[in-house]
Order: sequence, then structure tokens, then C-alpha cells
Amino acid sequence: MSGTLNIGRLFGIRLKIHFSWVFIFALVAGTLAISYLPTAYSGWPTPQYWITGIIASALLFACVLAHELSHSLEAMRRGRKVTSITLFFLGGVSQIEEESRSAGEEFWVSVVGPLASLVLAGLFLLLFLNFRGGNSSITALTQYLAIVNLAIGIFNLTPAFPLDGGRVLKAAVWKLSGNEGRAVTISSVVGSGVGFAMIALGVFLLFSSNQYTGIWLVIIGWFIQSSAASVRKQRDSKTALSGRVVRDAMRGDVPTVEPGTSILDLLESRMATELELAYVVVLGDTLQGLITVTDVKRVPIEARRFTWVSQAMTPASKVATLPPDAPLEEGLGILANRRIGQLVVMEDDKPVGLLTRAGVVRVMEVSNILPHESRNSETIDE
Ligand SMILES: [Zn+2]
Repeated sequence: MSGTLNIGRLFGIRLKIHFSWVFIFALVAGTLAISYLPTAYSGWPTPQYWITGIIASALLFACVLAHELSHSLEAMRRGRKVTSITLFFLGGVSQIEEESRSAGEEFWVSVVGPLASLVLAGLFLLLFLNFRGGNSSITALTQYLAIVNLAIGIFNLTPAFPLDGGRVLKAAVWKLSGNEGRAVTISSVVGSGVGFAMIALGVFLLFSSNQYTGIWLVIIGWFIQSSAASVRKQRDSKTALSGRVVRDAMRGDVPTVEPGTSILDLLESRMATELELAYVVVLGDTLQGLITVTDVKRVPIEARRFTWVSQAMTPASKVATLPPDAPLEEGLGILANRRIGQLVVMEDDKPVGLLTRAGVVRVMEVSNILPHESRNSETIDE
């Protein structure tokens, strides 16, 4: 997600906040201070409504974070890598690398989130029952957090991919049919259905008295629908790429340049005639870096004569590389996640190829018109 701010690390996971979160934080605090709290608890001085509203909003996001953390920690416990958790206006997302290897793993990683929310709801309910009749701010806070966590837990159990409940549904279909591809199809189609139903209900409410709920239903329904659709699209490209390795899509005639070449030289005597977008920088057989059109563009025109490729390139330590027998899916994942145009294919510490987006797309296009074998029917179960 772009437009995010790093706020720190927890258990080795980067915590990020998307700018839309600030909007929702203010909205929750404001709604509580102006509407919910004055209705439920009359007679407080105005600052108390605001302070309670802001604390409630902060605690709510701590609860959302706890929900996401439970997903992440369960995934890490099962040996998967979690890079970050991002809070945004509809809650949180955990960036978990690699897919679940079994239906059981998918089930547990998905279900712990709603369980965490329900446990939190129970805890706040106990606190509420304990503090009721005492300090009215604490009573209001615990009551509100019990209700909201209950709602988060139940909402996330809706069997609509990509919500947790949709993943639980996927795990169930996967377990029963032994076919992950089919499980993705069924759960994402159900997800789209639920998404469209929410949009329809939201539009209906827009024309009735409950416009506020209507707008939210349309936004959430649209989010669910489009996420479910993109999961299906991703599944299709995965199917097209399954069984393929980087070698199938890479180009072996790697254009190379030496680090001591000047940028002007590279531009005038190489790029201008060869029309290449990227050059692998080598000294003998050793990878030194990668220089692309974008890097060249960044060097001011007047400095090009006296700037060397080694000064403008991405150094080898930061160049994305893969061995030729790595799955092509992994290559596509790196290109997409790091938003780069190409990666260097390395074998025995030597650059042997260049994998570009165009190369991956070519393999995908051809695979899509090939007769469909059941290539995605491998089953791994516990
Ligand atoms: Zn969740």
C-alpha cells in the first residue's frame, strides 16, 4: 500500500499506518464525542466526551492491531515470514509472505483473528460488568470496546473472501475437496456475491433514512467484491505460471556493461543503438550492479560525461536476483512487490539471464491458450 508511515516494530514485524487511518481515527473519535457518548451518557462536561472519544478510538485501533498480530504470530509460528502489518481505514492487513501450505494452516491462521476479537470483547464485557456504576468514562469505554470487538469478530467471520471467514470457507473446501484451486474459486465467488449484496443493500439504504450505514455498506461491499475478483485473477495467473521456472521466461543474451564506462558512453554508443532498457554491470564474470534507463535519466545531462556507471547503478547488494530454477511465480512476485522492471538471474555466482515483466507476461499469455490440464491439483494435507 502506498501512502503509509512506519511507526515501529513488534515481534520483528514492521508496523505501518496508511494515511486513510488518520481520517477514520478522527471519524471514530468525533462520532463518539459528538453523538454516541452524549446520547448514552448525558451530563458530562464537553472535554470529557472528547477525551473519552479519543481514548476509545486509540484503544479500538490497539484492538484491531491485536487482531492482526494474532494472524501474523500464528503464521510465524508455522514458519511463514511476516513482513508488515498496515492499519488502514477498513482495519488492518498482515503482509504474510508465501501462501498456506495446507488447509489446516489456512484455517488456523485465518480463524485466530476473529477469535482474538471475540476474546477481547469478552474481556471488555467483564471489565464493563466490574466497573459499571463507578467512573462513567471507564464504563462507557469498556462497554463500547466490548460491542465493537464483538462486531469485528462476527463481521470478519462472514464467509466472504478476503475476510477471515472467507479464508475459513476456503480452508474447509480445500480440506473436503483436496483441491486448493477449487477452494479459491468457490470462496472468492461467494465473496463477490456477498460484496454485491452489501452494495445493493447499501444503495437501498441510501434512499431510506439510514444513509450513513448505506454509505459504509457500499464502501465495504465494493472493497470485498474487488478483492475477491483480484484473488481470482491472481489465481488464474498462478495457474498459468505453475510448473514454470525462471529459466523458461528469462532472456539469456544479457546486455552487459563495465562499471568504468561513462554514462554518456553507455547512452550514446550502447542504449541509442541497442535500445535496451537495462544493463547488467559486470567486471569479468562478477555482478557489480544493474543500470537502467531510469538510473541514466537521473544523472544531469552536463554530468553524464564524468559520471561512471558504477556511480549511477544499483549496486549488486541491492539488485534483486534469483536462480534459474526458481519458480516463475516467485519471480513475478518479486517484480510486482518491489515494483521493479527486471531482476538478474544468477547461477554459480554469475549473471546468466535477465527476467523482465514482459518475459513473464509472454509465458502467461502462451500458457493461457494451452489446453488446460489440472495442473493446480496437487494436494498437501496434514
Ligand atoms: Zn482478520
